[in-house]
Parts: sequence; C-alpha cells; structure tokens
Amino acid sequence: MRDIRISTEVAARLSAAHIRQLRDGPDPGVYQCCECSAPGDADAEPTSVVVYAYPGVVNVVFAHAWCSDSALTWKDDPSVRAGLERVHVLPLMFGSTGSAALMIAPYFPARTSDFQSNSQIRRWLEDGLHLVLSLDALLEEPPPTPGWKAWLVPGDSPGQTRLTIRSRLGSPHEPITVVDDIGIRVQGAWTRAVKATGKIALFAGLTEIHKLPDRDPMAIMDELAKAFQAGALTCGLIEADWIEL
Ligand SMILES: [Zn+2]
Repeated sequence: MRDIRISTEVAARLSAAHIRQLRDGPDPGVYQCCECSAPGDADAEPTSVVVYAYPGVVNVVFAHAWCSDSALTWKDDPSVRAGLERVHVLPLMFGSTGSAALMIAPYFPARTSDFQSNSQIRRWLEDGLHLVLSLDALLEEPPPTPGWKAWLVPGDSPGQTRLTIRSRLGSPHEPITVVDDIGIRVQGAWTRAVKATGKIALFAGLTEIHKLPDRDPMAIMDELAKAFQAGALTCGLIEADWIEL
C-alpha cells in the first residue's frame, strides 16, 4: 500500500476519484519533489500531496513526506502564478522540410492524462492552439495560429539564444507570457530556418521532454505520440521575430 499523505484542506480541493487515483497509483509514480527537486517515488516513499491554488489554476504537485507536509497554498498573486505556469522548452528540427520547431511542456508534472482537467492545456486551446488529432499531423506543418508570437535574441554565449513567447496578442485580453526569456541552445540549421521563414512550429503538451537524456528524434517522437494518445498535445504555426542586437 502506498503512503500518500493528503491533508484535509488538500482533500477538499480534489475530487474523490482523483484522491483514489493518487492512493492506488500508478500516478504520480516517480516525481520531482517540489521542495528539494530530487526525484521521489510514490510507490516506495511516503509522499505528500501539495496543492497550489490560484484564480483559474489548481496545481497538484508532490513532495517527499520528509520535505513537506501535505498543504494547500491559496494566493492571488500573478508573479507566483507565472512561476507555476513556467514551461520546459526543447527546440528541434521537424518534418521532411526541416522546419524549426519548439516543444513546450508544463514545468510541473501533469496531474492527469485528461487534458480537460489541465488548466494549461485548456488555456493553450482557448488561446488558439490546435489539438493534435492524428499522428500524421506531427509530420506536417501545424495550422497557422494568430495571436502567438516568439521573439529570439542572441544569448550570452555562442549557440545560445534567448526565447520569449507570448499569446493572446491582438485579442481583447491581456497578452500572456508563455515563455519568459529562457535561454535555449539551437543549431545553425534551426536558426537559419527561423530567419528564412519567420515561423516556428510549436508543440505544447503534457510531455516529459525534460527527462529525455538527449535530443534523440525517436525519443522525442515517442513523447509526442504519448501526449497525443492522452489527448494532451496541441500545436500551432506561430510567427517568430529574430532580433539582432
Ligand atoms: Zn524532497
């Protein structure tokens, strides 16, 4: 029997089905402890369920029981919320034509494979990204997605580029900074493709790209396929501006 610790206030934020799922497994399985960042194993170690609730966002994350008690944090603070919504970013070349692509994934582990219950996926869809509906779509250029834009500037070291992505541009809503000035490493071919087309194919989904040891295309494809099968992969062709300093 797993030792999953769920306080009363945390339990009040979760559905009975979700609590049962956490107690029975298999999720979360191996997770990144939200306190010490080291891996934890819900099947083998006492694990606390930690919930951060913000307007429109409920993030369920996990901690070693010795690092944190099961706790609920409620705040109406946009900066903390932005921290919770940060994403992993992986640049890749894509398709037979060698288009520049980016994969982004929530930094915090997905709560469930049901994309409807994931606030980030839901919002990416609301903001115009398209749900990937077939595996073949991963080999084609995604549909254009107005309102999203990437800015790239040279980074501090050779081969490094700084990336910002915003959504909701030109809409009545406040723009959202999806990627906030993150340093990425890209190859010359990727840079040339972006400069030539002014476009990037964006894939946003519940993938575990940060666990991929290298940029092996097969492993990346597997991750995309897994997210697609879970109904948790979105895509869009977005505008990109390369800014030379
Ligand atoms: Zn820990």
